[in-house]
Amino acid sequence: MISQQLPQPGDGPAPDRPRAYPSHEKPHTPLRPMWCCRACGHPWPCAMARILLKVEYDHNEIGLSIYLAGLFYEATRDLYRLNPDDGPAPRTLFTRFVAWAPYRRPRP
Ligand SMILES: [Zn+2]
Repeated sequence: MISQQLPQPGDGPAPDRPRAYPSHEKPHTPLRPMWCCRACGHPWPCAMARILLKVEYDHNEIGLSIYLAGLFYEATRDLYRLNPDDGPAPRTLFTRFVAWAPYRRPRP
């Protein structure tokens, strides 16, 4: 039996990527706590965010995986707080946030 409550994990990474492109446009970053794109309104990461993230992390796939996994954690926490009875399935969130990334596929 656990007699002490475990400490809460800290916050994940700041959702500040991808950077705005072109720089005067709104960035395709997530709008919390709904996790929709603040530029186009689609579920984040939207198609443009995925393209820009691939370019931004072109030589740092490990960094991209850490960033996405951290945001997956943050989104899970936010979305289940918003809708504790009918939140998205964990598999759905994992596919949306982490599984799309290029490091998950073998290089040609
Ligand atoms: Zn977008």
